[in-house]
Amino acid sequence: MNGPVYVHDLDGLAAHARSIRAALPSRVELLYAVKANPDPDVLQTLAPVVDGFETASRGELRRMAEVLPGRAPAAFAGPGKTAEDLAAALAAGVDRIHVESPAELRRLGALAVAGGTPARVLLRVNLPVEAPGASLIMGGRPSPFGMDPTDAVECARHPPPGVEVRGVHAHLASGLDAPLAGAVAAAVVRWAVAEVDAAEVDVGGGMAVDYADPAARFDWVGYGRALANVLDAHPGLRLRVEPGRSVTAYCGAYLAEVIDVKRSHGEWFVVVAGGTHHLRTPAAKGHPQPFTVHRRQDADGPRTDGGPVTVVGQLCTPKDVLSRSATAGPIGVGDVLLFAMAGAYAWNISHRDFLLHDPPAFRTGDPEQVAADWAARPARS
Ligand SMILES: *Cc1c(COP(=O)(O)O)cnc(C)c1O
Repeated sequence: MNGPVYVHDLDGLAAHARSIRAALPSRVELLYAVKANPDPDVLQTLAPVVDGFETASRGELRRMAEVLPGRAPAAFAGPGKTAEDLAAALAAGVDRIHVESPAELRRLGALAVAGGTPARVLLRVNLPVEAPGASLIMGGRPSPFGMDPTDAVECARHPPPGVEVRGVHAHLASGLDAPLAGAVAAAVVRWAVAEVDAAEVDVGGGMAVDYADPAARFDWVGYGRALANVLDAHPGLRLRVEPGRSVTAYCGAYLAEVIDVKRSHGEWFVVVAGGTHHLRTPAAKGHPQPFTVHRRQDADGPRTDGGPVTVVGQLCTPKDVLSRSATAGPIGVGDVLLFAMAGAYAWNISHRDFLLHDPPAFRTGDPEQVAADWAARPARS
């Protein structure tokens, strides 16, 4: 059975993460946002490279305890935390809890008082930040995430019993390029130090990943220079970043075999054994997932004419589209499609039970090699 498979390139992930770590000033703490991909192999690969992990649910706390026992998460976040969630974070010894509202701060304080140990928190602020040179303002609009600046100032000046407010957390936007991310970080730190006398700032994640250009990478060196300038201006500051997508997106590939090709009212469709119930990223982000074709060596079935195709999966819904208008040369039944950039917000955000198809397999290694070996095997009869 040639079923779909996720392949994680752990060597590539380790090398990429090391290059990120090396590009940032040593004083900047690099956290990985577990929600991007909580795969145990991924967490274990990142563990020796990153300074910590940002978690945002009790499930992620459990995953961390299972995969990396004894390593307390660096941060616990999320827009809606129950008393059970907060108690679990305190019990796990999480370094910093990111608090999203004044009511949550009071709830956390009461739990910490009952437990006898103060909770160390960063206040998540929804701060309007103007990007220099761009007519763009990030943050500062109505949002379920974080608190208004005036509330944060009030919480910092008059914290409830049981909490120590150490500083500020902001995660204002995603898809930021390095100049923009650097400008946002500088603005957040300026505000945090001036308005709440912050000793610590976590400037969030959201570093850009360009699905239209699989070879492109966020400019970590340029971003590192911007953060070095921030630290020069605030020598005593503890500074954290918490990227997710830009760390793991490139380390995962989803491989699926073509089961049918057909022309429908003038357009070519390629149907793979798999779909967006395994790889929801293109449906969630509204982009064509980049892919390459590994031609089945003994293929003798129908092929497309080499023009644009729409690649779909096995779900009975028109939304099950992995790629639209892609030109990748002729594609035939039995070929193996390698969907790249499937290492973040991929399997873990997918609606895996829709239509109750089998789950994909998972393995580690070089995705190109796995696809080449697969395409060299005899086609299914
Ligand atoms: C999702 C999230 C991140 C990671 O964002 P990426 O775009 O994956 O880098 C970091 N911090 C917070 C608070 C988040 O919600």
